[in-house]
Amino acid sequence: MASKEDFRKKLVDLFLNTNKCRSVLFLAEASIRKAYREMFPTEIASLECMDGRVDVTYITKTPIGIIQVYSEGGGQFDFGWFSFGWLIRRWVKYSLKKKRNKIILCSYHFSKGDKHRCCAWFKYDTEAAKKHQQYLVSQFKSAFKKNHEVYPIMIGVDTDTDGIIVHGIDGKILDLREFNSDKKELLIGIKELFPQMTDCVIKDFAQLLLGNIQHIKEVKELNRPIQSIDHQEQFLFLGRGFEWFNLLNKALEVGPYNPDLSKPIIVAAKVLLQNIQKGRIPAEEGILLVTSAVYGTDDNTEYHHGLAKARFLAKFAKEVIADNVKELLPYLHEEPLVGVLNFDTFEYKEIGLEPVEDVKEEVLV
Ligand SMILES: [Zn+2]
Repeated sequence: MASKEDFRKKLVDLFLNTNKCRSVLFLAEASIRKAYREMFPTEIASLECMDGRVDVTYITKTPIGIIQVYSEGGGQFDFGWFSFGWLIRRWVKYSLKKKRNKIILCSYHFSKGDKHRCCAWFKYDTEAAKKHQQYLVSQFKSAFKKNHEVYPIMIGVDTDTDGIIVHGIDGKILDLREFNSDKKELLIGIKELFPQMTDCVIKDFAQLLLGNIQHIKEVKELNRPIQSIDHQEQFLFLGRGFEWFNLLNKALEVGPYNPDLSKPIIVAAKVLLQNIQKGRIPAEEGILLVTSAVYGTDDNTEYHHGLAKARFLAKFAKEVIADNVKELLPYLHEEPLVGVLNFDTFEYKEIGLEPVEDVKEEVLV
């Protein structure tokens, strides 16, 4: 009979093996990414719910490493958050230097088929979720309205079909679930929603939407069973650098942005507990907490800061769960997977919860 340790190993192996494959692919796709960048130079950031069913990179069939992903409970970000606001401003500055336009996707999600498959963070209230994204769009519009070429756009994701709804001016929408025309019509449709948008940005945005139209078709052909569109996550990801993980509905992903970080961790822990209680995932396999911090090659301080951040996040999350969702503890593997991700290779390196004396951590690679 498999032991708890065997089940932990199964989840750890799934994570690390997926990372290995994706890192190899990321490096092999360098020329594809370069060509993509040359053809579609607009920088794209996607603000998403931590929900494992929402993955804009995946549902738009975009090569990994193109979209900058930020995850948070309900996608309920606020530009006023210190680290988040700083990261967005740094990204805008970087794009300005590269003379690239910028799109910030502010997404909410919902289920066409069942209210209870909508966003748990917003207590399944899709209108409240939309309202927040409108607020976020207006924050970005005010901050970047002068010569920054930043286009904040609200989108909705129907997790039943993975279809995107784009929201434009005057309440106009473009619903890709019902779109059955050609690229020319799509370009016209985007222009109607965003009359101020330059042709270059329209072309680049259209590329994402065309990817989604193709993905919607594939999902339809798969005839996905209803149980696979309800929550089935087994991992709790905490930190940054998980955008390579492409197994849909396997992980709840919480970024380190919310000034009250315990809040999204508690909500995520409750969703995971429900997954077990409702039999949506095998209880014996348990839940694995994985933390990650990113660093760039040749930046030793950033690397060391990453080690400290990943370990801190793991200890913090364990405490928060023990204090607030202790019913999850029998299912939560005691030893989290703690590591750092090299942002230049997308390679994840396990570092352990505590520094090991014998390992020379000052050596970067
Ligand atoms: Zn959500």
